[in-house]
Amino acid sequence: MKYVIRISQLLVFLLILTVVIPGKIKAQTSNSAIESKVNVMVKKMTLEEKVGQMAQVSIESLGSIKDGNFVFTQNKFKDAVDNYKIGSILNTPGLQTAQQWNVIIGDIQNAANETRMKIPVLYGLDDNHGVNYVAGATLFPQEIGQAATWNRQLIFDAGVITAYESRAASVPWTFSPVLDLGTNPQWPRIWEDYGEDPYLGSEMGTQFIKGVQDPLGSKEKLAVSVKHYMAYSDPKSGHDRTDAWIPENYLREYHLPAFRAAVEAGARTVMVNSALINGMPTHINKYLLTDILKKELGFTGFIVSDWQDIENVYRRDHITKDIKGAVMLAVNAGIDMSMIPYDYKEFCTDLIALVKEGKVPVSRIDDAVTRILRVKEELQLFETPMTYLKDYPKFGSAEFEKAAYNTAAESITLLKNTNNILPIPKNAKVLVTGPNANSMRTLNGGWTYTWQGEKTDEYAEKYNTILEAVQKKIGPSNVLYERGVAYNMQGKYYEDSVVDIDAAVKAASGVDYILLCIGENSYTETPGNLNDLTLSDNQLLLAQAMIKTGKPVIFILNEGRPRIINRIEPGAAAILDLYLPSNFGADALADILTGDVNPSGKLPITYPRYTNSLAGYIHKPSEGDGNPQGGDFYPQYQFGFGLSYTTFEYNNLSIDKKTFSPGETATINVTVKNTGSKEGKEVVQLYVSELIASLTPDVKRLRGFEKVDLKPGESKTVTFKLPLKNLAFVNTDNMRTLEAGDFKIQIANQSTSFNVNKTIIF
Ligand code: BGC
Repeated sequence: MKYVIRISQLLVFLLILTVVIPGKIKAQTSNSAIESKVNVMVKKMTLEEKVGQMAQVSIESLGSIKDGNFVFTQNKFKDAVDNYKIGSILNTPGLQTAQQWNVIIGDIQNAANETRMKIPVLYGLDDNHGVNYVAGATLFPQEIGQAATWNRQLIFDAGVITAYESRAASVPWTFSPVLDLGTNPQWPRIWEDYGEDPYLGSEMGTQFIKGVQDPLGSKEKLAVSVKHYMAYSDPKSGHDRTDAWIPENYLREYHLPAFRAAVEAGARTVMVNSALINGMPTHINKYLLTDILKKELGFTGFIVSDWQDIENVYRRDHITKDIKGAVMLAVNAGIDMSMIPYDYKEFCTDLIALVKEGKVPVSRIDDAVTRILRVKEELQLFETPMTYLKDYPKFGSAEFEKAAYNTAAESITLLKNTNNILPIPKNAKVLVTGPNANSMRTLNGGWTYTWQGEKTDEYAEKYNTILEAVQKKIGPSNVLYERGVAYNMQGKYYEDSVVDIDAAVKAASGVDYILLCIGENSYTETPGNLNDLTLSDNQLLLAQAMIKTGKPVIFILNEGRPRIINRIEPGAAAILDLYLPSNFGADALADILTGDVNPSGKLPITYPRYTNSLAGYIHKPSEGDGNPQGGDFYPQYQFGFGLSYTTFEYNNLSIDKKTFSPGETATINVTVKNTGSKEGKEVVQLYVSELIASLTPDVKRLRGFEKVDLKPGESKTVTFKLPLKNLAFVNTDNMRTLEAGDFKIQIANQSTSFNVNKTIIF
């Protein structure tokens, strides 16, 4: 009896303390002049013209390369632009210069201007790490490296430069940034995203979007396409474009935040997850596309499909018995533009028929076209369909290259440095070995000049490989080179062969240090699938042979995915993770090796130790160390980890109050001091743990970070403003919930606590 009374008293108490605030729709802002222009246009358009706007085709289907230049096949080109009035073209016919792009897109816009409605075509390219399909453009580290900088300004700058250089090539639309949560290291595209944390991804994505887009309409800005909405990155199989099993509350908790932040930052287009979630192809998931993205988040731009993904609903996923059925489901679900990418006639014919048959409402078509024309208007494409290289004098400039170098330099992450073996003296004798030692291809990864990046050694010849950069830095006579192992030129991208490990062993006898350059060859998407995350057998053999020489072996990891190295890691004297640092990565590495640059990158992912233990830092207590019945969180390196050549000390963590109501913002201060003898940058990381919650809380979550630059002896106080609402979790009713209770704050070795006095649901 006593017990019952206590429970009921508690319930009354909880009811008093719980406030439910219904979720509110937060629309992106709109411009009334643009809205009325678009409305007038849509009213004048025929059904055929409207459907044409919703079609996007790949340029390879419209022509071919002749004598180095892309030439449209006139009848195909006219058919697409004049007859079918397609609204968008994408992709590259092979690497083109900015001038060549000016000509190609000039031809397209001239043809579009001859059509009845004179609607410019929206050209889009994948700019994964700079304008990677335009010769001579500035290439940045791939997104995983960008995230490893934990430096918002660098990401913003990368966005500004990408937009500028894209406009030099007349292209006003980019299929970037990737906002997939890099939570599954098996997935072959994890390096294309900003790592495994929703907050880090949201912050980086927001910076990039602002750098690329703001102010939209300027001749130096583009529309972004954030992708791949959502949960594409976490397939159960680990393989690309396969099913993810994720309940809605987890989708909202982990995968949605970066897209929500992108919509809030004004992202104008969104590309859809090419795969399936819980058995449902995302391209026909009306709830995700229309109810959440367009209605709940208030997204007013347009949704573009991924490559052939409406067709995939029929061919791959066995949902419909023909393409027409797939078109109906996808357009009704909320897809506004279909990346067809080849057979536009079938898409257009089917969609027109579906409207005539009453299976796709005209209102849906009008909505899609309104969204597409809105973006074209916002970009001022009607006034300025063309931009030209001559107006972009900073294209490929030293200033831009410096920004790319800085990003690479701040991304490289020092994971191990036994007895401070690094930096090495500038007169050291070094053996450079391994399949990644003399390759621009591996430094850049996929999406570099070509889709799979296989031609990078030819196109990026003028930049330095690791071998070349080290030779330049310490003098060629101090550097020996033996490949030891090489990636195969034929066959699967991940296959490698032993070249001559004995020669590397012999060469090692005459040097002070061995730079072992290991990792992965370039890849992306399905060709990048992998069945074993362990570093290849041949590279392990080479590493073991190098360790056996007794010389200090410095591992240089150059890889998109964290390849498992537990068998050789104990033999490493030092380890530097480069990720995919691109064309200036080797220069940055050489500067770090010799101490001209102090490393400051921090892992944006958890580096796993074992192939069967791939939990990330965001996990439940049951998966953690404290659970004798299951938990064993023992990664090789923790998320957020990275060493420096100097040391930092944290002190005086404080919070302005001990008890907060949910609407308040906490102010948290901490002092960080450079206690070593070298200037260095430190990433101050704020983690918060909820101690008790009605849904098992994550062990800890990143809720803030700041990168600070400190001279020896210098200290700075870093202040975080933390709205308590940011600590809410998504409950099983899919509502954000901030529960009354105790929270712990942790910054480095400092911790404190506070509590929230009321539960809110919103
Ligand atoms: C990829 C997208 C890319 C598109 C266009 C697809 O295969 O999944 O990320 O934007 O191709 O190249």
